[in-house]
Amino acid sequence: MNATDEGATSTNELHADAIVIGTGAAGLCAALTLGREGASVIVFEQLGEVGGMTNHAEGMFAVESKMQKKANVGLTVDEIFHAHMEETHWRADASLVKKFMEKSGSNIDWLEDVGVRFSGLYNISAFSPRVWHQFADFGQEGFIKPLYQRLRELDNVRVFLETPVQNLLVEDDQVTGVSVRTKTGDGLTASARVVVIASGGWQDNKDWLETYGRSRNIRPIAPSRMTGGPIRMAWDVGAGESGLGLVQTVVVVPDEDTNSQLMQAGYQPRLFVNRLGHRYCDESMVWKFPFAGNALINQPEATAWCIFDETAKESMKEPNSLLYALGAFFDILKPLPDIDSEIERGMRERKAFRTESLERMAVMIGVEAEDFLPTVETYNRCCDAGYDFVFGKNRRYLQEIRTPPFYAVRLVPAAFIAMGGIRTNDRMEVLTKDYMAIEGLYAAGCCAGGYLGGSCEISTTGGSCGFAVFTGRTAGENALEYLGK
Ligand SMILES: Cc1cc2nc3c(=O)[nH]c(=O)nc-3n(C[C@H](O)[C@H](O)[C@H](O)COP(=O)(O)OP(=O)(O)OC[C@H]3O[C@@H](n4cnc5c(N)ncnc54)[C@H](O)[C@@H]3O)c2cc1C
Repeated sequence: MNATDEGATSTNELHADAIVIGTGAAGLCAALTLGREGASVIVFEQLGEVGGMTNHAEGMFAVESKMQKKANVGLTVDEIFHAHMEETHWRADASLVKKFMEKSGSNIDWLEDVGVRFSGLYNISAFSPRVWHQFADFGQEGFIKPLYQRLRELDNVRVFLETPVQNLLVEDDQVTGVSVRTKTGDGLTASARVVVIASGGWQDNKDWLETYGRSRNIRPIAPSRMTGGPIRMAWDVGAGESGLGLVQTVVVVPDEDTNSQLMQAGYQPRLFVNRLGHRYCDESMVWKFPFAGNALINQPEATAWCIFDETAKESMKEPNSLLYALGAFFDILKPLPDIDSEIERGMRERKAFRTESLERMAVMIGVEAEDFLPTVETYNRCCDAGYDFVFGKNRRYLQEIRTPPFYAVRLVPAAFIAMGGIRTNDRMEVLTKDYMAIEGLYAAGCCAGGYLGGSCEISTTGGSCGFAVFTGRTAGENALEYLGK
C-alpha cells in the first residue's frame, strides 16, 4: 500500500487503524502525524484534488515563532492569548486556545521540517500584530503540495479522492469506521478504530449562511462543496454542537477575482453608501476585513456602493496610490493601469456606474437624491476639514468627491470561511452533548468549535489555518495514544 490518488471502488478492502476525512491543512497534518508513527491510515477526500480551502490560504498564525524572534517581534503567547479571548468575549474555549497559542511556534518548525515553505512574516494591516507567516506561492504550492508529497512517501497511508464520506459508524460509543460513496457510485464501508473528521467549514451551505451569517446575500469567496455534511454526521452519532455560526465575512465586488483591478478599485476605503443613500461606517474598516463584512451585512439588502471621482480614479493608475489591498492577493504598491476598461466591463455587468452628475448617480444606484447628495456633501466637508466628524476615519483616507465624472462600484458581503460545529475537548476528542468523549472520534480544523466565539477578529491573522494545523496534529497525536502506537 502507499498513498495514491485513486478513487475507491467497491472491490477495495478498506480497513486501517485510522480514517481521516478531508485533505486540507487539518486532514493532512492528522494523517501525517499518524502515518509517520506507523499507524495505517486511509484518507477520504470528496473532491478530485487535495487541499480544500487551504489551497487558497496565504499564510498562518503563530506567536513566539523563530521567524518572529529573528524579526524582533516581541509578542508573547500570553499577550495574544488575552487579546484573542477578549476579542471573542471569552466565548472561545480558553484551554483549547491557550494550547493552540503555545504550540503555534513549534508548529511552524514542524511544517518546515516536512517541507512547507514560508516566504516571510507579515501583519495584515497597520492595526494588527505581526503573526501572519505567509506561505511561498500561497497554500496550494507552498503548503499542500509539500505536505501531500510527504504523505505519498508513506507505505502505510492510502488516499482516495472523489470518495465522499456519507456516515460515521459508531457502536457502543466507540467509533468503528465510516461509509463512503465510491467513484462508481456504490456504497462502501471502511473500518477503523479511529476517525478524524477534518472536513473544513460550511460556507457553501446556503441555509446555514442565511441563519448564522444573517443575510441571504453572502456568497463563499471560493465556492466548493463545503456544506458541513460531516458536521451533521457527527451530530447524528451523538456529538454535541459547538461554535456553529461563525462566518468570516469580507467586502467584495460581486463575482470578481480577488486580484481583479475592478475589485481593487471597488473596495478602496473612500465613501461607502448604502441603499438608503447613507454612509454607514468608517470605511478604513476594510483593513479589519471581517468587521467591514459585518457592517455591510447590517445594511438593507447587504449592499453598498463605493463612490469616488475622476481624480481618485486617475490616481489609481499611478504606482503606490492604492489605499488598501486585501491580504496578499494584490500588491498594494501596484497601479491599476486598466482601470478604465475594467470600469467599462463593470458597467456592462451592472456592478459599476459612471456619470457626470451626482444627481444622476443617485438614480443609477437606486437611492434617493435627497439622501445621497447630503451624504456626499457632508463627506466633502469632512475632507475639507481634514477630520471625519461622522465616523472618525483617519484623514489619510479622506479624499473629496468633486471632480466629474463620478464612479460607483457595487459592494456585497462574501464569506472566506464559515467555521464551527462539532464539540471537542482540547485533545480534539469529539464530545457528546453531555461532554463525554466518543471513543476513537476526533475533529480538527474548521469543522471543530471552540476557537472563535461568535465573531471573527484579526489579532490572530491566519488563525483558521494555524488552528487547522494545531488541531490536526493534536488529533493525530492523541489518536496514536488511543491506538497504543
Ligand atoms: C480565498 C481564501 C483565502 C484564505 N486565506 C487564509 C489565510 O491566509 N490564513 C488562514 O488562516 N486562513 C485562510 N483562509 C481560510 C483557510 O483556508 C481555512 O480556514 C483552512 O485552511 C481550513 O483548513 P481545514 O483543513 O479545516 O479545511 P479545508 O482546507 O477546507 O479542507 C477540508 C477538506 O475536507 C473535504 N471534505 C468535506 N466534506 C467531505 C466528505 N464528506 N468526505 C470527504 N472529504 C470531505 C473538503 O473537500 C476539503 O478538501 C482562506 C480561505 C479562502 C477561501
